Amino acid sequence: MIPFEFASPKTLSEASREVDHKSNMALAGGTTLLDLMKLNVLTPNRVVSIAPVLGKEVRLERDTLTIEAGCTMAKLADHEAIRDAFPVIRQSLITAASPQIRNMATIGGNLLQRTRSTYFRHPDMAPPEQSFEAETEEKFWHRVDLSSAAVLGNNGRVVGTYPGDFANTVVAFDGTVHLQGPDNTRTVKARDFYRKPSEKEIQYSVDLKPGELIAAISLPVTPALKQSLYFKVRERSSYAFALASVAAGLELEGEGASATIRHAHVAFGGLGSIPWYSSAAVLALEGEPATDENFEKAAQTALAEAAPPPGNEYRVRLAERSLVRSLRRLRDVGPYTDAEIWAMQHGRAVNQS
Ligand SMILES: Cc1cc2nc3c(=O)[nH]c(=O)nc-3n(C[C@H](O)[C@H](O)[C@H](O)COP(=O)(O)OP(=O)(O)OC[C@H]3O[C@@H](n4cnc5c(N)ncnc54)[C@H](O)[C@@H]3O)c2cc1C
Repeated sequence: MIPFEFASPKTLSEASREVDHKSNMALAGGTTLLDLMKLNVLTPNRVVSIAPVLGKEVRLERDTLTIEAGCTMAKLADHEAIRDAFPVIRQSLITAASPQIRNMATIGGNLLQRTRSTYFRHPDMAPPEQSFEAETEEKFWHRVDLSSAAVLGNNGRVVGTYPGDFANTVVAFDGTVHLQGPDNTRTVKARDFYRKPSEKEIQYSVDLKPGELIAAISLPVTPALKQSLYFKVRERSSYAFALASVAAGLELEGEGASATIRHAHVAFGGLGSIPWYSSAAVLALEGEPATDENFEKAAQTALAEAAPPPGNEYRVRLAERSLVRSLRRLRDVGPYTDAEIWAMQHGRAVNQS
């Protein structure tokens, strides 16, 4: 880790005046930033402590849920407004990381995770333009841990996966990111906030200008948000990033397979270069009967544009099966219960339909 200056601004707008996201970086919970500084992947000259000046509240007002960026993952997951009413939010948080990390990590920082590929996180990695030249060659594929490479939104290239969980819920349920600049505020739809890697980039970028900080995120409260779940498949049952995950919600008219799908929300995690909102799945589902056949069709449509790097073909099938399973579960039983999620977290068998 290189030496750096430390700043403790007194207000959020003072903090935003200090931060440029390159040489002057914001420190919230520090669970990503400090890791990357220790690895010399990020080498800011100045670290600006924003946790004390970020709002930490969760507010449910009329039809909008607002979460201030300084709220920790643990506090949000356990908040009374969230606990029973919005399963996908709670589940995408408690299936992420570990209790220690969730107690430190903030919601703002959680949205801005860097890809976990050890290759793309290595400070000695070739500059993007060189790796871009090389990445179509087979020998490049053998050098890179492709299990963290994107299957969707990769433009046929080898680029890192967006690794987080909660952001998939935010894009699935049409969330908005609220930004605070030194002299102004701005809102941007979460689906527009994340940008797929351009030709010379190895991971996503965000619509965050120098000086802007995430102040809050908000979600419209819909019936589907209440009938929702997060299903995550990983190499270990706990404390691991997703190989494939699904944030899903259904608003049904009627019962069982003869019900009509009024509204559907679907996003995949662990697969895309960005949190992957699946408009293809939503289009295939809305207005249709909630049959297994339609769920299968939606899953295949959703993954039709997948371009898995070598050895990752199984993640396409995994994602399809995860979506079908999530939709069937929502139709036949409803959201996962807390007991079921904790059983999954601890590697115990549960009766998952
Ligand atoms: C071992 C391990 C396992 C993990 N497993 C998972 C997992 O399974 N799922 C998952 O989703 N996550 C996982 N995580 C990641 C963890 O959730 C993130 O590290 C955490 O959410 C980041 O939040 P933070 O407040 O600590 O951010 P920080 O580390 O403080 O900051 C992260 C980045 O965001 C910037 N930043 C922070 N806040 C703001 C803001 N308000 N405005 C603008 N920029 C800001 C910082 O400058 C930095 O670039 C894991 C982490 C570890 C170390």
